Amino acid sequence: MASTTRLILNDLHAHGRLNHQQWLTLLAEAQSAPAFAEEIRTCAHAIRERYFGRAVYIRGLIEISNYCRNDCYYCGIRKSNGEVSRYRLSPNEILQCCRQGHDLGFRTFVLQGGEDAWFNDDRLARLVAAIRAEFPDSAITLSLGERSRESYERLFAAGANRYLLRHEAVNPDLYASLHPPRQRLANRLDCLRNLQAIGYQAGAGFMVGAPGQTLAHIAEDMVFLGDFRPAMVGIGPFIPQHATSYAHEPAGSVDLTLILLSLIRIMLPNVLLPATTALGTMDPQGHAKGMRAGANVVMPNLSPADVRGKYLLYDNKMSFGSEAAEGLDTLRQHMAEAGYKVVVARGDQPPLEN
Ligand code: SF4
Repeated sequence: MASTTRLILNDLHAHGRLNHQQWLTLLAEAQSAPAFAEEIRTCAHAIRERYFGRAVYIRGLIEISNYCRNDCYYCGIRKSNGEVSRYRLSPNEILQCCRQGHDLGFRTFVLQGGEDAWFNDDRLARLVAAIRAEFPDSAITLSLGERSRESYERLFAAGANRYLLRHEAVNPDLYASLHPPRQRLANRLDCLRNLQAIGYQAGAGFMVGAPGQTLAHIAEDMVFLGDFRPAMVGIGPFIPQHATSYAHEPAGSVDLTLILLSLIRIMLPNVLLPATTALGTMDPQGHAKGMRAGANVVMPNLSPADVRGKYLLYDNKMSFGSEAAEGLDTLRQHMAEAGYKVVVARGDQPPLEN
């Protein structure tokens, strides 16, 4: 078994993709054999060092609105959660967050929000253009859900560079179990293809340990990532939210998340790979462990402090301390202790080496 899995790992390293059965075999062995998981991690870290050295790219996360027209069953701010106190930042407040972030050393701003109709194409394009004009040295990442191709094109033309849209699950049954019928997997995948075709650095991803998810589902997601070749991948452990029907489901595994981070680094050597807030929420050492597994990005929260408690996608979500822009010194210190260096840089995806 061990030699078979090592051959599969070599195959992944050499070709950057595997078939479903190979993924299943590899994942099962990595989960059951700690020595093999460590071998995977070591390989991933060597690739991380080749492409990024010990650098940690930081992104200033601005949660612009917690209004959302969607009803993803796992999400704390979904439309039908009446407990949520809704807010929306004004364009001026968002620009102010960027100014504060730029002063702190951020050179990427991530505008994230629910699918809020107030942020129509006119308003968003004006906002993106204003950020682009004021911060020509910074990247603008959007994470605002499913929009039309025309909308993505306008925002790209206005100055946006990257777009995060987790695919969540490529298995149609799993996707359908996590979302209401009007939210269609085919549309989500079309959005991702459009983003990539327009020229965005496009980011996909999924929750590890989502309710109903099996290792076979994860293997399907890894096949998809190998085919799609995203510039960014966001994965983090599922964390239940008390006002959802998944309130009593177990959280996803930190260990499996770390194994997957390593395997994604091996599959997509130059990918931008965050150690997510969910990982930091589940494990106080989550960021450092993520870096050791092959991650190279952290996204501290730049939102105004008074709204952070309202963007609760899941329970106990961290948005202060080393997860916050004002806690950057703490993050720098934690990263330095682990042997990494937070850098002031746009942190674009480097070209793939031959
Ligand atoms: S996951 Fe995103 S799209 Fe789904 S309900 Fe939550 S904010 Fe809306």
